[in-house]
Amino acid sequence: MAELTDTITFLGTAAARFVLIHQFLASGGAWLNLGDTQILLDPGPGSLVQVARRKLDPSKLDAIILSHKHLDHSGDINIMIEAMTDAGTKKRGMVFAPADALNQDPVILSYLRSYPQSIQVLTEDGSYTIDDVSFRTPVRHKHPVETYGFIFRTPRHTFSWITDTRYFEGLAGYYEGDLLIINVVRLNPGAPLDHLSLPEAGTIIEKLRPKTAILTHFGMTMWRARTWELAKKLTEETGVTVIAARDGLKFDLAQLDK
Ligand SMILES: [Zn+2]
Repeated sequence: MAELTDTITFLGTAAARFVLIHQFLASGGAWLNLGDTQILLDPGPGSLVQVARRKLDPSKLDAIILSHKHLDHSGDINIMIEAMTDAGTKKRGMVFAPADALNQDPVILSYLRSYPQSIQVLTEDGSYTIDDVSFRTPVRHKHPVETYGFIFRTPRHTFSWITDTRYFEGLAGYYEGDLLIINVVRLNPGAPLDHLSLPEAGTIIEKLRPKTAILTHFGMTMWRARTWELAKKLTEETGVTVIAARDGLKFDLAQLDK
C-alpha cells in the first residue's frame, strides 16, 4: 500500500469583489487530500470547473465544509453536493455548514439536502469527524454572517485555517499546528473591517509561530502589491516561512516533517 500523505490544493485564491468578479484569480476553494479522506472547503464560484481542471474526482469526496455562506465561499456548494452524490443517486458524503447557511436565506437548496449521508451544523467550539480526520471550530469569527475557522487533525499532521474575520484580541490563541493558512484580503488595516489585513496576519503568525504559513483569499490591494513579494517580506520579518498561495498550488504537508 502506498504511504498516506496530506496535501492541500488551492482551487482558488480570490476574495470577493474585483479579483473574483473579473476572475483575475480563481475562486474554487481548496481540496484537502488527507490520507484516504477527500474534503472540499469553501466551494466558491467556479469550484466545479477548477476541480475538473485539476483532474480531481468530486464523486470521491467524503465531505464538503463551508466556513460561511458568503457567495465567494459558497457559490458552487449546490453543484458540488450534486457531484459528490452523483446527482442524488448515491447517498454519500457529509456536508458541514453554519446554521445560517441552512436556515434563514439559505445557500444550500432544500431539494438536495437528502442527498448526502448527513448535514451537520457547525457551532462555536464544535468537534467533528470525517473518517480518521477530525476538525474543530474553536471560535465564532467576527464577520457579517456566521463564520468559523478550522483546526484539522490527521493521523500525521495538525493544521489550522483562519478564514474570513475581523481581527480581534486573542484570535491567534484559538488556533494551533505546524501549518497555518490565513485568509488575507487587505493590504492595509482600515475600513471595511470585516477581513484580516497583511499586518494583522503578521501579528498572528508571530504569535503562533507555525513551521509554515500560507496566505490566500486575496483582495485587489493584496493582488496589486504582488503577493509573493509580500510573503517574502513577511518571512524576513517573522522568521517563519510564509508562502503566498497561487491558483493550483498543491502543498504537501510532508514538507513540515523535516
Ligand atoms: Zn466572507
